[in-house]
Amino acid sequence: HFQRPRSWLDRLANRATGPALRAVDEVSFAIPAGKTFALVGESGCGKSTLARTLVGLYRPTAGTVRYGGSGLHRQPVRGQVQMIFQDPFSSLDPRWRAAEIIAEPIRALRLRPADAVAARVDELLTLVGLSPEDARKYPHQFSGGQRQRISIARALAGEPRFLVCDEPTSALDVSVQAQILNLLRDLQVRLGLTYLFISHNLAVVRHVADEVGVMYLGRIVERAETRALFEHPRHPYTRMLLASVPDLGRRGAPRERAAGEVASLRNAPTGCAFHPRCRQATERCRSERPEARPAADAPDTVVACHLVD
Ligand code: SF4
Ligand code: MG
Repeated sequence: HFQRPRSWLDRLANRATGPALRAVDEVSFAIPAGKTFALVGESGCGKSTLARTLVGLYRPTAGTVRYGGSGLHRQPVRGQVQMIFQDPFSSLDPRWRAAEIIAEPIRALRLRPADAVAARVDELLTLVGLSPEDARKYPHQFSGGQRQRISIARALAGEPRFLVCDEPTSALDVSVQAQILNLLRDLQVRLGLTYLFISHNLAVVRHVADEVGVMYLGRIVERAETRALFEHPRHPYTRMLLASVPDLGRRGAPRERAAGEVASLRNAPTGCAFHPRCRQATERCRSERPEARPAADAPDTVVACHLVD
């Protein structure tokens, strides 16, 4: 139910074409204003597809995206939903100066009179930790971290209330990652932003998220408050992901072998899609798809597994 944003998001959408397949299915979650919801999962699980659907780059064949809550299908005002991508180089036009990149949404959305755009660009550069002198530079004149700051400034230029961050630090050096994460957190508090944060990196997710959805082959198999997920993972896939990160694996927690490759969405396994990799799989798992249900002892946690409860 999102109005398709025009301008650079549209150009990106036009590149993203391919044969149809059901990439995301039966996914349901809500993000309270001012909070961060993280989607985690291995590559190819549908995280980015879901994110792009939320910002209007892809049109869902079924289902709704509601913005603003209260049961109304309200559409966001253009600009109120923005996206930050993994690769801050390919998402910035190399022929444009930083000032032009950041000014585009301001002009396209007519957020400032023409003679006030430059001052707004300076303000945004400062807000993301760059300086007004950087306005004249081209993307290749910046480091990876600085380019991501420009992407963030461009996103903020649309005056969003909801920001989708798709692996925003995955392409950056570890030291720079922390700076960008801290910047995003700082901006969230200052501007009251709501985030959907997509990552395969569980350490990052634990740092930034209030709530986490673990995706496997297009479905959320476990959704829980961040602390609950890390301290008491319930789905075998969540446990497998946690066990594969040495400092996160909880001593004494049931360990899952990080076995097998992610199956393809194109020929998803029958029953529980995770069953070929699950050590606890039973005959039922091969034939019957588990519904996502609240855990009996933790109603805020939702799990799709026959063995839970
Ligand atoms: Fe494993 Fe079965 Fe649970 Fe799927 S439903 S995660 S195969 S135990
Ligand atoms: Mg992705």
